[in-house]
Amino acid sequence: RSKPVSVSPILTKFQKDCDTPLPVLRHVADSMANDMRAGLAVDGGSDLKMILSYVDTLPSGNEKGFFYALDLGGTNFRVLRVQLGGKEERVISTEFEQVSIPQHLMFATSQELFDFIASGLEKFLESEGDKFHLCPGRKREIGFTFSFPVKQTSIDSGILIKWTKGFAVSGMDGKDVVACLNEAMERRGLDIRVSALVNDAVGTLAGARYYDDDVVAAVILGTGTNACYIEQKNAIPKLQGPASSSGKTIISTEWGAYSNGLPLSVFDREMDAASINPGEQIFEKTIAGMYLGEIARRVLLAMAEFSQLFGKSIPEKLLKHFTLSTPDLCAMQQDDSNDLQAVGSILYNVFGVESDLSARKMVVEVCDTLSKRGGRLAGAGIVAVLRKIEDFEDVKFGKRRVVAMDGGLYENYPQYRRYLEEGVRELLGTQLANNVSIAHTKDGSGIGAALLAASNSIYT
Ligand code: ADP
Repeated sequence: RSKPVSVSPILTKFQKDCDTPLPVLRHVADSMANDMRAGLAVDGGSDLKMILSYVDTLPSGNEKGFFYALDLGGTNFRVLRVQLGGKEERVISTEFEQVSIPQHLMFATSQELFDFIASGLEKFLESEGDKFHLCPGRKREIGFTFSFPVKQTSIDSGILIKWTKGFAVSGMDGKDVVACLNEAMERRGLDIRVSALVNDAVGTLAGARYYDDDVVAAVILGTGTNACYIEQKNAIPKLQGPASSSGKTIISTEWGAYSNGLPLSVFDREMDAASINPGEQIFEKTIAGMYLGEIARRVLLAMAEFSQLFGKSIPEKLLKHFTLSTPDLCAMQQDDSNDLQAVGSILYNVFGVESDLSARKMVVEVCDTLSKRGGRLAGAGIVAVLRKIEDFEDVKFGKRRVVAMDGGLYENYPQYRRYLEEGVRELLGTQLANNVSIAHTKDGSGIGAALLAASNSIYT
């Protein structure tokens, strides 16, 4: 009685459009590495902005003292404090708190958003216990992780280039992000100094590097996506002045904006057209957590309309944007029961539909198609970063290299993670891939930002 899985021509076409065979991955890895070179040559030289982080000193392990970190970048903001004890004692103690950002603040004024953040920080400051010690005569210092594209002007200042990940906060045009935070803190009478402005990728790289010298890059796969890596300054033509000759620095690739040669379906194009940033962040829209569920919803809607996926009627909730989330896709893909009961109940809870086994199987196929494409393309991006690093390294892929990974999508979606690793392995070959370690560093970005506040402290 149950129909075979491939009965829907919409599904078949979708799978074909999203396919990522090795030649496609090769193209993405090569072309993204070229975009990186072009972005380092001149500002505006490519889709990838290749932003200078002004982080020229990586954590050494010698950092000492008491520092705060604040992380704003998606669905949550986090605050953290850490007591650093130098080479011997390392991280003596940390405490952190997480606050979810009310939906309406994503569309509010910058003052409203930053007032909310400052009040969260204020509460956290009030809970500071005697485990933490500020050196007498010093102000508290904080590392600020702000995970949107920012044109950095120094280690502790930068201007928002554009909002991503569904944020559309007004009143930020041309304004220094740190100034916005400082003004909000002043309105609350908080006496604390922002010593470092970074994004979550840079924070994660700094945090991971504190524990392992072989860390060369960091990748975020959460609501949005980004990657950063350690670059030689003499490989950055757009970096002018005497500093350009020697040393290393972290480059934030802003790879979410990559767009060349990606395998896209009509559903991707429709979602992009309906988004608040049409034509932008196409790589991000193909691989990141904010979007996978919504693409799936659009596929299911088309299958309901044209292949009667859920019977004759179209459930109303299926018409509503962003009702299906990426964690839903993930949960459905974990169902290994014979009758796909968990898939059935998720479909019922989300859309209010009853589904038969053949429909459930097709839904799982849609989830698999998206996690496969997303994971494999993220893997191709990682290879692009490794290739770019290799440009100016004497030791080629023979050396051990660690890519620090963080973000809720990478952390929680096992199939996605496996496809990512598979993509890297296919592109590099087993031997070279064995030298590359893709390592999850959970919440490393908070510690990383605090470490960068320490290494950029005005007191040292
Ligand atoms: P941020 O919102 O700052 O990126 P996270 O790194 O925690 O924060 O990422 C949260 C995102 O991770 C969610 O928006 C979602 O897309 C994705 N995610 C969270 N849990 C899961 C899950 N179980 N399966 C798949 N994706 C998940």
